Amino acid sequence: MSIQWFPGHMHLTRKAIGERVKEIDVVIEMLDARLPGSSANPLMAELTSGRPTLKVLNKQDMADPARTALWLAHYNAQPNTQAIALDASNTAPARAIIDACHHLAPRRGGMVKPMRVLICGIPNVGKSTLINTLKGKRAAKTGDEAGVTRTESRIALADDFYLYDTPGMLWPRIVVPESGFNLAASGAVGKNAYDEQEVAYELLALLKADYPALLEARYKLGRAPEAYAQAHEEELIEAIGRQRGALAGGGKVNMQKAAELVIADFRALHIGRITLETPEQFGRWMKAGLKS
Ligand code: GDP
Repeated sequence: MSIQWFPGHMHLTRKAIGERVKEIDVVIEMLDARLPGSSANPLMAELTSGRPTLKVLNKQDMADPARTALWLAHYNAQPNTQAIALDASNTAPARAIIDACHHLAPRRGGMVKPMRVLICGIPNVGKSTLINTLKGKRAAKTGDEAGVTRTESRIALADDFYLYDTPGMLWPRIVVPESGFNLAASGAVGKNAYDEQEVAYELLALLKADYPALLEARYKLGRAPEAYAQAHEEELIEAIGRQRGALAGGGKVNMQKAAELVIADFRALHIGRITLETPEQFGRWMKAGLKS
């Protein structure tokens, strides 16, 4: 079973972005650096009608730096596109953003032709946090739960530089099952849309292949990296649950509790800095998904 996620009102946001983008010079697309491909809304390119795009890989403090470098190179190779990595601890991101936008739209700027920038991204990716940092005060509402309601606003970063917030909610759109699992693991889709055990299995399948040393450092199962790679996910969850005392009656592991624990550990950065997909992997998933 894949993740089911049917958010409403996408058609309204689509229309609103389509209208807004007519007066926009650069689109900032905020992505989660832990899952850049999956956290993108696949309608963005169509919605923004080929506007120059600045991809902001946010939450880079939680992502694997080597993989962030791969994603930056991947996006920077695309036409009309620039990419930067940011995190909430970056107290002065304005300079990097302003510079990148001027690079993307060199003919805009000055009082007569101010730069107009639209900031887009799925809920919880960090838009409000970035906007607050840019504004220098806590004005936009931030929240941990996907889907905190926000209203559109215009922010003047400079006399000739305006930033517009997304009009409406740009929900993730799950095109391939792998993206659904990664979005669920990251907390970007609502709790009711997925099964924790299934998501934890998928997460462990990924971690045992790509980050076995981090798993060992966190859970101390006494296994070599190859032993993780060979173990079945169900067996790993059970071993982790036993190690961490997630037990049911009769000495059995409470698999639900163990699954929730692994997901919570991933989100809280307790396993380490992890990126769930590389550009190459994501491209492969998309190809296979579109064929089927
Ligand atoms: P929005 O829905 O896109 O406006 O997202 P928010 O700005 O409300 O951020 C969602 C959550 O992610 C909040 O708990 C933020 O504190 C957190 N967050 C945002 N940016 C970062 C970041 O760069 N690093 C980390 N670790 N957390 C972040």
